[in-house]
Formats: sequence, C-alpha cells, structure tokens
Amino acid sequence: MDNAVFHKRQDIRHAIQGKQVPELPEIETSRRGIEPYLVGYTILHTVVRNPRLRWPVADEIMSLRDQKVVSVQRRAKYLLIEVHTGWLIIHLGMSGSLRILEKDSIVQKHDHIDVMISSGKILRYRDPRRFGAWLWSHDLQKTCVLTHLGHEPLEDAFNGQYLFEKSRAKRIQIKPWLMDAKVVVGIGNIYASESLFVAGIMPDRPSHSLTATETEKLSGAIKAVLSDAIALGGTTLRDFLQTDGKPGYFAQQLHVYGRAGSPCRRCGGLIESLKHGQRSTFFCSRCQH
Ligand SMILES: [Zn+2]
Repeated sequence: MDNAVFHKRQDIRHAIQGKQVPELPEIETSRRGIEPYLVGYTILHTVVRNPRLRWPVADEIMSLRDQKVVSVQRRAKYLLIEVHTGWLIIHLGMSGSLRILEKDSIVQKHDHIDVMISSGKILRYRDPRRFGAWLWSHDLQKTCVLTHLGHEPLEDAFNGQYLFEKSRAKRIQIKPWLMDAKVVVGIGNIYASESLFVAGIMPDRPSHSLTATETEKLSGAIKAVLSDAIALGGTTLRDFLQTDGKPGYFAQQLHVYGRAGSPCRRCGGLIESLKHGQRSTFFCSRCQH
C-alpha cells in the first residue's frame, strides 16, 4: 500500500464520529505489557482467523514458523516485533487490543489473530472494528507507514528548540499542528488538549505565535503528560484493554479532555470546548492564553 492510501484510510478512521482511539501511551503500555512474554521466546506459528483487517494480514505473518523474537519496539503508534527474518508491524487501529493468555483460552468473537509462543502462552489480537493492521517488513527503512514520521515525543531530540523552529512558518492552529505526525508522532486529541492545558497555551492560536519560552513549556508538558499516562497504564478508550484484560480507563486524571462544562481543576472556571474539524478541543480560557 502506498502512503496516499494509508492517509486516506486514516481520514476515514478519523471521520468515524471522532471516536477515541488508542494513543501513544496505550501503545507503549501494550509494548511494555507484551515484551517480557515475547523477547527470547520463539513464535511457533500464528493462527489467523480473519485476515481482513484495515489491510489484509501479511502473508509472511500467516506463514510465520519458528522465529525467535529479538525485540519488541514502538515507533509512533506502531508496535514492532522483531524476529530474525524481519518485523511484524502492528497497529491497533480504533479498537484493537493485545493480550497475553494461556494457549487453551477460549476464543471469543473478534479474536482475529493468535501468535503461539514457545512458553505455552499466546499473544491474542482482538479488534471488533477491524481497523488495525498486521504488516510485515524486511527493512523498516523502506516501510512506507514508518517513513516521514516526526520525532518521538519522549526522546531528547524533541524539545522546545525543535518545536520553536518547526513552528516558525506555520499559520495552522497549534492543536492540529501538534497532532501532525510529521511534527511529532503519537499525539492525538486527548494528549494535545491535555498538554496545551498544562503548558497554559490556548489551542486555537496560530503555531508561529509561540514564543521560545512557550515551546519549551509545551515540549515539557507533552513529555510530562505522556509519561504520566504511561505510568498509569494508558488513559483509554472504551475498547482498549490492558494486557491483563482490565480496562485502562483513567479519565479522572484528565484536566480538560471530555470535561466541557465541568470546573477547571486549577482555577474553578468552566472548561470550554470548540470544534477543530471533526475533533472537539477542550480548554480553560482562564488558565490558557
Ligand atoms: Zn482554569
């Protein structure tokens, strides 16, 4: 598939009533959850009950046999499972979840893929809406879904200076700009709203109006908000399950997202919302300028 098709599908996904989808902390939580059960073990084979996901499950994954897992990594919202012959690239889409289960666990509706592991456990993929993806790559550098991605927000290269330089010529509003994966990856609607609140910045200002002090604050806020969410096991989404099967919903930790009409936790004023395209943005006009 080429990038144009990929982005078209992304647009379709976003158009589905702006439903909440797993964001970077949920993916990182999944990665940390499954990593100890995979690295150093062998994938014996896979069981694909329904290959019709966002794109058909890669043939190489369907026919995978006896491959030792080298690493489990994440790039943007993709999970990368490295085996000796290549990489399984997994995207959870809107409603995908991964769990580690015993191999004789009962298969339920929407359990589309099992990865059988030499330990006797399985990595099970459930995805009711089937917008997720299981792709294969021999070479990550040539994998179209991974090219042209911006910095990882938790890495040192993503900082105030980088954001300042990137924002100079941009008239687009700050919030949609932050959600552009060419700027920084993995920041969706929830964490863009939350980070801008923490940084005290109004989401509808033009990006180039940010001062160097503000971009410094903003990069720090993004790192803090994402790290907090990861520490909590991922803020989530109705269909997302943590690897142990419990819903990872921590909405009480959110400052503004989904709280229009409720009092600001900082100043007591009312949280407001406005629409950016399909998305709602939440903010406090007293705490953000
Ligand atoms: Zn406030």
